Amino acid sequence: MSGVTGGEDKEHRNGEENMAAWLLGIKTLKIQPYHLPALGPHDVKVQIKALGICGSDVHHFKTMRCANFIVKKPMVIGHECAGIIDEVGSHVKSLAVGDRVALEPGISCRQCDLCKNGRYNLCREMKFFGSPPNNGSLANKVVHPAYLCFKLPDNVSLEEGAMCEPLSVGIHACRRANISPETSVLIMGAGPIGLVTLLAARAFGAPRVIIADVDDCRLSIAKNLGADEIIQVSTNIQDVGEEVVKIQNAMGSGIDVSFDCVGFDKTMSTALNATRSGGKVCLIGLAKSEMTAPLTPAAAREVDVIGIFRYRNTWPLCIEFLKTGKIDVKPLITHRFGFSQQEVEDAFETSARGGAESAANEPCDYHED
Ligand SMILES: [Zn+2]
Ligand SMILES: [Zn+2]
Repeated sequence: MSGVTGGEDKEHRNGEENMAAWLLGIKTLKIQPYHLPALGPHDVKVQIKALGICGSDVHHFKTMRCANFIVKKPMVIGHECAGIIDEVGSHVKSLAVGDRVALEPGISCRQCDLCKNGRYNLCREMKFFGSPPNNGSLANKVVHPAYLCFKLPDNVSLEEGAMCEPLSVGIHACRRANISPETSVLIMGAGPIGLVTLLAARAFGAPRVIIADVDDCRLSIAKNLGADEIIQVSTNIQDVGEEVVKIQNAMGSGIDVSFDCVGFDKTMSTALNATRSGGKVCLIGLAKSEMTAPLTPAAAREVDVIGIFRYRNTWPLCIEFLKTGKIDVKPLITHRFGFSQQEVEDAFETSARGGAESAANEPCDYHED
């Protein structure tokens, strides 16, 4: 994963115009002035110091869309971020100027049934950083509700704080699938989402985690991050039967939960067939909007299929895992860029190249019905 680190901004010191990286067209980003909305009583102004580039940002950059979200007018890009509180609204009591915070990027309505029942990630009125038509957070400063800004402990850096966003996807998936010290786990796909799922499953106590991918370079990263076994698989659907046997033999016991972090016919077929009777398959990667997979035999073995959409209430747990060292996200931060026109372009080009080499594992993490 690459990131843009704000650092000390030489050109735009306090009092000068706020600048942001605007997506103007396919592969066209420009740093231009960004007039922030007025600071409401419950809002804070945050000076952004670190921002990660997500698969979905790259989709927006390359195609001006991600699933059904289409960029129709210039939009500030980016959503995985952390920074320092610059100003607080009149009613904000929980945060003070100078606090270091990680930002949860989605603002839900807090009024609808889904919000009231705690499943706010499914809110239809969600306003999410850098998901059209909402501006994102690759900017000097942003305005955000205080309740979505989480204070970082001294031993967690701003860069690590920005990683709470992708990590949240893994945490939410592990919660949905009830991962515990008694759950053996298979992960299909060792891309960024597969890796955060691996880290989360470990932190939830999963005793044995196997990860499968087509790319041996990604697999060796997964191995270094703590996968018990790595298995190289093909892209050929004919190989599913043989690969399932290989995966099951490597696990030794039954596979309780499989996470498909890719979302192709083949990865889902493998996950469904490899999971033990009565187990669960959790679909995280959404590479294809529809797929063909052997659901009937899995249903007849009472394999539950569950999905996830982003995350909810995950920041406090992410920060706890980072603080205690139960999760180390530092190995996932591979590149660093400054916030200048040239470096922002380089950052996105670098991420886009990474995505092209491994398209099978760069699922768009947004979808909407
Ligand atoms: Zn993201
Ligand atoms: Zn709502």
